Amino acid sequence: MKLYNLKNYCEQINFLKAVKMGLGNNQGLFFPLNLPKIPKKKLQEIIEMDFLTRSVKILSILIGSEIKTSELKKYVKQAFSFPGPKIVPVTKNISCCELFHGPTLAFKDFGARFMAQIISHLNKKNNTTTILTATSGDTGAAVAHAFYKSKNVRVIILYPKGKISTLQEALFCTLGENITTIAIDGSFDECQALVKQAFNDNKLRQETGLNSANSINISRLLAQVCYFFEAYALTKQKKKLVIAVPCGNFGNLTAGLLAKSMGLPIQSFIAATNANDTVPRFLKTGIWNPYNCISTISNAMDISRPNNWPRVTELFSRKKWNLNKLGFGSVSDQITTQTLLDLQKIGYISEPHAAVAYQLLKNQIKKDEFGLFLGTAHPAKFKNIIDKVLNINIPLPKTLAEPSTLPILSHYMKPNFEKLKKFLKS
Ligand SMILES: *Cc1c(COP(=O)(O)O)cnc(C)c1O
Repeated sequence: MKLYNLKNYCEQINFLKAVKMGLGNNQGLFFPLNLPKIPKKKLQEIIEMDFLTRSVKILSILIGSEIKTSELKKYVKQAFSFPGPKIVPVTKNISCCELFHGPTLAFKDFGARFMAQIISHLNKKNNTTTILTATSGDTGAAVAHAFYKSKNVRVIILYPKGKISTLQEALFCTLGENITTIAIDGSFDECQALVKQAFNDNKLRQETGLNSANSINISRLLAQVCYFFEAYALTKQKKKLVIAVPCGNFGNLTAGLLAKSMGLPIQSFIAATNANDTVPRFLKTGIWNPYNCISTISNAMDISRPNNWPRVTELFSRKKWNLNKLGFGSVSDQITTQTLLDLQKIGYISEPHAAVAYQLLKNQIKKDEFGLFLGTAHPAKFKNIIDKVLNINIPLPKTLAEPSTLPILSHYMKPNFEKLKKFLKS
């Protein structure tokens, strides 16, 4: 697989190098040079396969010969070793595609766990990797669990002290072993700024083998392509399929569009955001004008400068698709809350991120279409909001209940780069 840097077409590298580097020169994203399309007859065969067999097939079509199929099989099996997507009917013509049955109850498990397999493949030659990531919640947990006990990998996760929920904190700050967590006395932006500073320090990067594991990493996106195929296979609908995606950094949507580019018959997508509506405003007006980030109840989508958007526009232009055909919309907290109640009334307990997508899908779906909205996280992860809004006491799954009884192992640090640097070198 060859990929090029979106900011410098001449920088072209293979898949494994792209996973290792994360970003190219000038902070450019890597994008596939070839966009393989599966012939119709073959597509039918692939759709009929089981999830794991099909995922190996799709990833080998994308990645090519860089990783032996026998090895890829092993990696996919280890990465996706949890219940895959589930389609749950919500109304007559809309179902939720639940992607949250993995170890940290969010769709990020698919991408993070596949990336962990590729990193350990790269580390076979005894390199060591330091994964340094900032998190406002879900990414930290998915990455920590994906790399837990990986050989030659040290994981360091920064998070804003007191600004993530106690359930979220317990999920990744109680693991120990090769997972180190640091509560930063500051905001999420300050955590992210520290990570950026570390990546800009070439010497430090070399010495510690830094990698970030966030959704700019191409391995995460490729893994996510697999569940769109599974969603299609499980839906078994004769109607045209439209998928509403709750978007933050737009990695999930990019993966869905890649699946479509491979020939998966998805009629259209709806890019759903909360009040952080840079993309919906851009699609409406043609003007890219990010405002300051606003805190909402769908906090994993509180991003006003989405990292993966350049990949979305590149794909539309490469495929000669019309960007006007991309559905979009933004939903306020007030309407999201109302939507959660509406969903409860029709018998489906959801959470704020999926509710944003459902709300737009419900309003935009046409008669001849069948709709899926992506359930990106388990509602119990947002117990504090869900219990209050729906007046219920949502039970905690074991994955959340157990860690919340364990001691928090986090270090504590002021947002100071020299201190972090010293820590990374130690
Ligand atoms: C990360 C996340 C999103 C946003 O996904 P992107 O790929 O960044 O667009 C949406 N919902 C939940 C629950 C998340 O954790």
